[in-house]
Amino acid sequence: MHYAQVKRFIECWDGDNAFRKVFADNPAKALRNYALKVDPKEVAALCRRDKNDRIKIADLVKGHPALKAYGKYVEAINKFSLEILQKQIEISNPIFETWSARQKARFSTQAPSDWSEKNPFLAFSIELSEGCSVGCSYCAGAAEKLRSVALFTQENEMLFRGILGALTEFSGVDSIYGLLYFFTEPLDNPDYAKYLQAYYDEVGGIPQTTTAAWFRDIPRTRRLLVQSESLEGGVERFSINSLKHFRFCMKTFTADDLKKVHLVLNYPEAFSHLYKSGRALSLHDAIDGTTACVCGFLVNLATRTVKLVSPCIEPDVWTKGYRILAESTFADVPDFKAFLTFCQNTIMNSVLASDRALKFRRDLDIQLQLDNRAILKTRYRQMTIESEMGIALLRLIDGSQSPEGIVSSLSGEYSATKIYGLLNLWWDKGLFEDSEGPVQFR
Ligand code: SF4
Repeated sequence: MHYAQVKRFIECWDGDNAFRKVFADNPAKALRNYALKVDPKEVAALCRRDKNDRIKIADLVKGHPALKAYGKYVEAINKFSLEILQKQIEISNPIFETWSARQKARFSTQAPSDWSEKNPFLAFSIELSEGCSVGCSYCAGAAEKLRSVALFTQENEMLFRGILGALTEFSGVDSIYGLLYFFTEPLDNPDYAKYLQAYYDEVGGIPQTTTAAWFRDIPRTRRLLVQSESLEGGVERFSINSLKHFRFCMKTFTADDLKKVHLVLNYPEAFSHLYKSGRALSLHDAIDGTTACVCGFLVNLATRTVKLVSPCIEPDVWTKGYRILAESTFADVPDFKAFLTFCQNTIMNSVLASDRALKFRRDLDIQLQLDNRAILKTRYRQMTIESEMGIALLRLIDGSQSPEGIVSSLSGEYSATKIYGLLNLWWDKGLFEDSEGPVQFR
């Protein structure tokens, strides 16, 4: 069986509740409805019971050799995700790297275990418009209405190329990876294809595109897929917002057209999850989480603004799923670079300063137990502190004491080296508030 056909079968199963019902009663009829060329007995093993059911293709292939080609395809997709993760690992600015590692450590205490490994923590994203024309009801970034776009004028092109150069230099890499959207719709910008080409010229590859406006101008969407193929892009993504759109997508594009397109299904009839973030905060079936994947610089070329951001799951404080630690406007590349330097020198402190007033993160629920243990809890994770010194430190950390103050308070009981050792460990794990944010630069 061709992997693109198997991929489409899974999409139909996950995306269309009527297909699921018909397939259960009359597989041949269900396959005919979507013109699927698969063996119903073989693909039945891929049918998830519900949206929480997980199927490991690698395990399945052993007993189903007919799914081997699809298994190889999934491997290739996973490799593509790993390559993106690898790009972030290559960042060699030690201050940016340490700060990012601390953010990841903190995020790993807020999220279910596999999320922090999967979140690529991209170094940047450059939005090419202000607001968004799509208005998805679940928008995790609560994007407002589309207000303006940054056309590919000579001035914007120079600025765009200069920003990519500045970010590459700041990160200390040969080739940096980020996105050209965050909570914006890439196709809102009529010059998106030109920006992709300029990105390719500067970086030697193109970023992934996720579009929820794929249905508006089908020839343009097809051109985007051709451009992605010719510039050796990876997997692109279409967000599908209704069952009607899903069926339209299946009619409009063949399985082969979409062999490198991941369909993100965001409607009630589909097996999908929405995260309590942005406009989805009030949706009853949304779960705690975030879609934010940038741990670094969020640039908007249309508004000429830049923010230092970091993913988080703290919906009471950061409703859009990411922290904003600093922000600024910029007029040109030197201005932009000045913000990067400011963040490096004042926000991304790589070591715990001895005079810094220490405060545990507000999302940590700290429970002192009667048996002289303490439990630090978040929604998904918990950590236990059992050592006598750990409990003594914990009692002193109230937002007013600095490491040097703590050392002096406990001088008769524990050595300064031991105290600093434990405080630094907690700092590296991201247990302390490292910035109230956002700090205004300009
Ligand atoms: S999810 Fe994306 S496409 Fe939808 S409103 Fe938000 S930014 Fe726009």
